[in-house]
Amino acid sequence: MKSRKLSSAPAVTGQCLCGAVQFEMEYPAFWAWHDHSRASRLAHGAVYATYVGAWRKRFRITAGEREINRFEEKETGAVRSFCRRCGTPLIYERTRSRNMINIPRALFQNRTGRQPIYHIAIEEMQDWAYAGEPLVPLKGYPGVFCKRSRKKSRLQEVRLSASIRSRCP
Ligand SMILES: [Zn+2]
Repeated sequence: MKSRKLSSAPAVTGQCLCGAVQFEMEYPAFWAWHDHSRASRLAHGAVYATYVGAWRKRFRITAGEREINRFEEKETGAVRSFCRRCGTPLIYERTRSRNMINIPRALFQNRTGRQPIYHIAIEEMQDWAYAGEPLVPLKGYPGVFCKRSRKKSRLQEVRLSASIRSRCP
């Protein structure tokens, strides 16, 4: 993945949290998807991971190659690369598609040319994942919002959302 120039196609760039690892990918990506599997949940420490998939030859590390560590999952043979300085997940290589690599969508600063309309392992989706439910501000904690209680009546919900003084149960 190093010492190789991409074609003259437009590229999008990304990096890890500490900035040691930088990379670029030809635009647009091949596809994008949400991964609800347990392995990705643990690897990211997040309820699910969102990946951008790209052909390997369309991706290149531009800085920090030496800072990248690899972890191989014994059961699946999948390889996960991460920055050894800051721990950011960088590349997810699955055995079923060796010519394709997957990069966390969040690491790109700009649009990748694909919306994540696909879901993998949706049956493993966690019931604590935020699914866009209406939120109300939490009284006394600026910037904190919480889900409205289901027990409240419709009228109460309207009053809650209309009032900045509302407080979550
Ligand atoms: Zn880093």
